[in-house]
Amino acid sequence: MPIARRLRTIGLLLPALAGLALLAGLAGFRISEGMGLTALQETGRHRLDLYAGSLEREIDKYAYFPATLGLERDVLDLVAGRAPLAWGLNRYLERLNERAGTLTIYVLTRQGRVVASSNWNRPDSFIGEDLSYRPYFVDAAEGRQGRFFGVGTTRGEAGYYLSSPLAEDGVIVGVAVVKVSLEQLEQSWSTVEAPVLVSDENGVVILASVPSWKFTTLRPMDEPARRHFERTLQYNARPLPPLGLAPLYRIAANAELVRLARPADGEAEAAVFPVSGSFLAQTAPLHGTGWTMTVLSPAAQITGMAWTQAALAAVGSAFLGILLLLWVQRRGHLRDLERKVEERTRTLRAAQDELIHAGKLAVIGQLSAGLAHELNQPLAALRTLSGNTIKFLQRGKLEAAQGNLERIAQLVDGMGALTSQLKSFARKSSGAPRPVAVRRPVDTALFLLDQRLRRSGVAVQVDVPDDVAVLCDPNRLEQVLVNLIANGLDALEGQRGGRLAVTARREEDRVRIRVADNGPGLPDDVLPRLFEPFFTTKEGAREGNGGLGLGLAISAGIVRDFGGTLTGANGVDGGAVFTIDLPAANLPADPSAVQAGDFSCPTLPTPP
Ligand code: ADP
Repeated sequence: MPIARRLRTIGLLLPALAGLALLAGLAGFRISEGMGLTALQETGRHRLDLYAGSLEREIDKYAYFPATLGLERDVLDLVAGRAPLAWGLNRYLERLNERAGTLTIYVLTRQGRVVASSNWNRPDSFIGEDLSYRPYFVDAAEGRQGRFFGVGTTRGEAGYYLSSPLAEDGVIVGVAVVKVSLEQLEQSWSTVEAPVLVSDENGVVILASVPSWKFTTLRPMDEPARRHFERTLQYNARPLPPLGLAPLYRIAANAELVRLARPADGEAEAAVFPVSGSFLAQTAPLHGTGWTMTVLSPAAQITGMAWTQAALAAVGSAFLGILLLLWVQRRGHLRDLERKVEERTRTLRAAQDELIHAGKLAVIGQLSAGLAHELNQPLAALRTLSGNTIKFLQRGKLEAAQGNLERIAQLVDGMGALTSQLKSFARKSSGAPRPVAVRRPVDTALFLLDQRLRRSGVAVQVDVPDDVAVLCDPNRLEQVLVNLIANGLDALEGQRGGRLAVTARREEDRVRIRVADNGPGLPDDVLPRLFEPFFTTKEGAREGNGGLGLGLAISAGIVRDFGGTLTGANGVDGGAVFTIDLPAANLPADPSAVQAGDFSCPTLPTPP
């Protein structure tokens, strides 16, 4: 891939990689946060059940307390106005209050005036006060159990008021009230790990593990509500500022992620748990009251953990992405390389084919001179024979003329054989393998080199049985044999008693054709480079393609194409031995099938 294209690909991939990392980070954050919140919700729910249970038990303890006062005759007489205020009753209420651990116990007339109270002897005693405007009185006067959280008007002490109607023969004659403090419970909450608060039906925080949260509001207060509080003095005219709880998003019906503003002063250090930041707020209604309990489980840790996981997921996915990128690039690179190798192989193959063809033509050129010489002799003989025949005919010596004409026919046949061989050699073969009797290409090769053989005086010995056949193209095999025999002749040049042997043997499903000479053999430095293209030890240009160093390289390529090998070695008695190893073939019953396209007569005619 060109550099510019690669850079462009990287330029496109980098934003994709960044996007992937971002997505993975986001998913990592969401999954981690989701899992953290689920676990937090579980513990929050347990806390909520625990605190709500303890608060409900605390309130239930006093639920029937005011009603029991209706069993006292003195109380009924007093509120019904049948008896004057008895101080003994005040003291009775005082003792009861002490023993029960409540804040105050008092009884009111049907009109709402306090007639007896446990705090009778205190300067801020309720006795004589008109509390008919208090909702708990209104509820009880109408025959219902009154439940009311409020701040006392006399001492400003917050408490829970439980009231009951005092009835006599089904007629309400007065109201009994017990005021209890929930402070102790509240104090026990401040030591637990998550802040908890209780808000009343108006959304006013009435109990909280953080003292400064008390008498703040969870939701904005509208004007009618504010006026109602002023009238009933429920919170004794306290300012009721907002707590500053901002909802982030809802997780379930009674679970919400919220943010709490930083507390005013030093509160954070005082509490054992965080009192600002993000929280999981879980709520539950408190039975028997209109109140709602809220547990705030700190969620900052979860968010922190989620960010860490998000960073890990982003880095991890980016790393994987880079690995993928590298892998893709490497694959592209390998594909490029493969394509290049294929292209080069194709080019080389084409070049090799051309060289083979060119090699053949070169041999033909080499042969031309020899052939011209070869043809000149029979032509001269023909000239003499035909002249003689005319003379024999003129003299009426018909027998002698017939003898001459037969001779002429033989010579013409011989020349025809020569030209047909040349035609077959110059033809570029298709290269398709077929069964070839080895004897034929061997004979052809020897024939083509006949001139040189005769000139050199080298003795040629051929041992190739007729039935030994290989699977290849006869023209190509012939080309290889011409190369090997020509190399042998080169090696034997100038040597007396030169011998060249061509043998072929079938060994199971292979055939080994050997071309051996008794020349100088292959030196150690030549042996490993024999089949290297352009490797030659022959100096200067010879006739033909000699000295190019291509003969063996091309021959080895041809043999390889037919599933064989060409090897060179030194013979046991010296000299070089070249072995062609090819797959064996079985000759068809009709040998003409094999001969098709080949020349038929390798024997040279001898002129008279
Ligand atoms: P070329 O014949 O053009 O040199 P080849 O590829 O046919 O190219 O041969 C390469 C070399 O192998 C020759 O130059 C020669 O050194 C060596 N060689 C080939 N055949 C023989 C042989 N029969 N005897 C000795 N050396 C040989």
